[in-house]
Amino acid sequence: MKTINIAIDGPGGAGKSSISKAIAAELGFIHVDTGAMYRAIALYAVRNDCVEQITDHIEEIDVELKFIGGAQRVMLCGEDVTDFIRSPEVTMTASRVAAVPEVRAHLFNLQKKIAAENNILMDGRDIGSVVLPHADLKIFLTASAEERASRRYLEMREKPDCPTYEEILEDIKQRDYNDMHREIAPLTQAEDAVLVDSTNMGFNEVVEYITDLIREKTDLR
Ligand code: C5P
Repeated sequence: MKTINIAIDGPGGAGKSSISKAIAAELGFIHVDTGAMYRAIALYAVRNDCVEQITDHIEEIDVELKFIGGAQRVMLCGEDVTDFIRSPEVTMTASRVAAVPEVRAHLFNLQKKIAAENNILMDGRDIGSVVLPHADLKIFLTASAEERASRRYLEMREKPDCPTYEEILEDIKQRDYNDMHREIAPLTQAEDAVLVDSTNMGFNEVVEYITDLIREKTDLR
């Protein structure tokens, strides 16, 4: 059976994951957050203090995704690490290990396999350009760095040790730079991707807009 594959790329903090999750629930698709896979490898590197030597360890790093009630759980060597991959340290390390070709190759096959077996919305940086070049629809979802930082700050400000708005903005800009300037699979808008700039759009507006595009493209009702 041919599966429906939707690619959603864009910079960090643009809302790809939460928006993809809402659309996937609406359409009965699986949402695959590929950033979580890079984060799981980063967690391994942080825990084992081997960020610089990550290629020497790649064969022992077993990343797997499980979908429970449509929600993605990330398994690292059999352990559910979903709740441990969002710290600032893992976030920054993810963008470093993601620049290593062996890391990308390691996750590529797993991503292709999930897409071949399921109707999915897959979000990341290189999904439309590298992983699923024949996706049924490609979206490039972005927002200004200031808007992304301010959304993140509002999400985090009640938490203990919340960074300042300026620190969050600095991190976002650094990650954008890393993701756009790496040699392999840099963050870029695929030629045939639809650009959605959500700087001045509300969450529901973006969800509705992309859901409509998917329905149009795929004849879903
Ligand atoms: O999307 P998220 O912020 O969780 O991704 C974490 C990091 O993983 C990103 O900064 C990026 O460097 C990397 N990544 C990637 N390719 C993807 C998804 C994420 O390089 N398809």
